[in-house]
Amino acid sequence: MKKDSANLDAIISGRGVKLHYFEPSNRKIWTVVGKDNEHWLDPDLGFCSCEDYYFNAMENNGECYHLKSVKIARQENKVEVIKFSDSEFESFITALVSDLM
Ligand SMILES: [Zn+2]
Repeated sequence: MKKDSANLDAIISGRGVKLHYFEPSNRKIWTVVGKDNEHWLDPDLGFCSCEDYYFNAMENNGECYHLKSVKIARQENKVEVIKFSDSEFESFITALVSDLM
């Protein structure tokens, strides 16, 4: 657990919680840069693409440290917001998905 909260601090202070905001549709994509790579998540659905979530989330209130870090970053107003136009949405998703594979 200690290691977990150290991770959270490092992510949040390093501006690792990112909100990719697409205009004018207002679509939102959240990613968190963790200790190894970037993960896509949906804090409103409580979903994360990482292995930790996949294997351990059920025992952990359904939250991995990425989801926790989004929650804290939102509370502390430390979310890195990056704006895009909707025309970039498809290539963004394609790049994200290929990163995750
Ligand atoms: Zn995760």
